[in-house]
Amino acid sequence: MWVYLTLLLLSLSGLDLVPLSTKDIDISIPDDLDHNSIDGDGEDIDLSSLGPDAYGTPNNDSGDSLSTWSESSLMNPEEMGNYGQGDILMPPHHARNGMKDKTSRWPNGIIPYSIDGHFTQEQKDTIMRAIADYHRLTCLRFVPYNGQTDYISITSANTGCWSSVGRIGSRQEVNLQTPGCLSKKGTVLHEILHAVGFTHEQSRPERDDYVTINYNNVKPGSENNFKKSDSSYTSGYGVPYDYNSVMHYSEYAFSRNSKKTIEPKVGGVKLGQRDGLSRGDVRKVNAMCS
Ligand SMILES: [Zn+2]
Repeated sequence: MWVYLTLLLLSLSGLDLVPLSTKDIDISIPDDLDHNSIDGDGEDIDLSSLGPDAYGTPNNDSGDSLSTWSESSLMNPEEMGNYGQGDILMPPHHARNGMKDKTSRWPNGIIPYSIDGHFTQEQKDTIMRAIADYHRLTCLRFVPYNGQTDYISITSANTGCWSSVGRIGSRQEVNLQTPGCLSKKGTVLHEILHAVGFTHEQSRPERDDYVTINYNNVKPGSENNFKKSDSSYTSGYGVPYDYNSVMHYSEYAFSRNSKKTIEPKVGGVKLGQRDGLSRGDVRKVNAMCS
């Protein structure tokens, strides 16, 4: 019971960069939420655009590079790993024959979780504030792990910030290296959103209408991280491209020269915020459940 009380208190005290009106968000789980919407065979997540780096093992090189990250860094901590698109990792033993490019949604939006890393109380609070945001604003429900078959284990190995995309079956890790990946609630929201089933905003098929990728500034070998998803990929859920998404890279992601690698095509927007879920993020998650 204390967990729920804590969540309630945290959600009451939560403060987002992007103020959201709860009156236009239905946070109840619809009665008719069943397997044809969130877990049906037709709802697999296509991961074919992630490239070979996504099918690997956690590595200490990514952890070492993240340990050089500080609040004044130009990029976000999860943009520093050498995984698929920086922070997406599918453990090789989950790559099943003919299925390796697909994963699944979580049935009914219920995600069992367990916090298994070594975190300070403040860092645990940051994780719980992220979970409270999902409970306050979306249909997702994170329940403490209690023997369920499929669940996320939140770990803290020195291998960077990373997650798989979607439900891959049995225990799956969301790694949050301390302190870098815990310095902003948005990084926790970001990694969890991968585990929910979303990839990066700037990999949407229509992104070239919204941003320019400056390949001249991209670190050699990192070009793959800017690949677009196939147009058959359906993660947009009818929600327009969202510069403010917690899943958008920052302007300097994978830069080789401290010049911008991504520039918005309109003025007055900033990319890569990690303070809270955007309106678009909330709409997309809730559309997934309905
Ligand atoms: Zn990511």
